[in-house]
Amino acid sequence: MFCVYDLHSHSTASDGTLSPRALVQRAAEAGVEVLALTDHDTTAGIDEASEAAQSCGLVLIPGVEVSVSWNRQTVHLVGLNVDPHDPKLNDGLQRLREFREWRAVEIGSRLHKAGISGAYEGARALAEGSLVSRTHFARFLVRSGRVEDERKVFKRFLVSGKPGHVPGEWASLEEAVGWIHGAGGQAVIAHPARYRMTRSKLRQLLKTFVALQGDALEVVSGSHSRDDYINMAKHAKDFDLMASAGSDFHCPENPWIELGRLPRLPEGCKPVWQNWNLTGQTEVRSQLG
Ligand code: AMP
Ligand code: MN
Ligand code: MN
Ligand code: MN
Repeated sequence: MFCVYDLHSHSTASDGTLSPRALVQRAAEAGVEVLALTDHDTTAGIDEASEAAQSCGLVLIPGVEVSVSWNRQTVHLVGLNVDPHDPKLNDGLQRLREFREWRAVEIGSRLHKAGISGAYEGARALAEGSLVSRTHFARFLVRSGRVEDERKVFKRFLVSGKPGHVPGEWASLEEAVGWIHGAGGQAVIAHPARYRMTRSKLRQLLKTFVALQGDALEVVSGSHSRDDYINMAKHAKDFDLMASAGSDFHCPENPWIELGRLPRLPEGCKPVWQNWNLTGQTEVRSQLG
């Protein structure tokens, strides 16, 4: 039986700073037994991560974090156990990456008007050929000495009402759940407490998600407080959703989010992994000792 699950993480295929291989190695060293790689809007890192997982004796769950627009707000859906080569999933993600490319140019030009030049080129260079995220803009502004840390860049420039903000035009909730299910995966609402929705808005989201046959709520997240775990566990129970747990690890430089350090799911939660059949992979593990 596996005990240490971390079902939400990022690599250089999106806005993480470790390659898929280095991420898997770090997770294994941290004691993670089952890791999901869930890059934003791409499955490009999965093959490398799966290969690395075999040599580390860790189970790699192929995943993705899909950007969704719901109720004029951005919501993230994690897909777990998706076929990374599913054509419909990849077509959908491709459309989101095209929007990202347009948005990156737009963010650059808005920042330029706000007196910050070269941000698009800077962010693009930091993305090293992968998709451009707002994280790359934040890193660029920090590295070029304009702002002290990434959080401040978001607060001053990249969130709603700030000069570099461009509203998301992502997938609908229905599309995203459909892509994930079509690729054989389970759909999980990521870091629900991060959206700062009112209780009734969140319950409206969960109701819609359940109607679309959504599977789980990320009850334990690196960005949740203890109160959030308890609160989200109650919501999961009320809506008969399974519960997931993931650090949302992006980079070793961020000391408060590390791989393999998540608390257990609160009492009464049904783990999203309850029906997973990982036995074949257990044999590989035990052979490795
Ligand atoms: P994007 O999907 O390109 O809009 O970027 C979203 C990503 O930005 C998230 O996945 C986080 O990695 C990062 N992010 C969002 N808000 C913040 C924040 N306040 N501070 C630091 N990083 C953030
Ligand atoms: Mn991110
Ligand atoms: Mn997210
Ligand atoms: Mn994430």
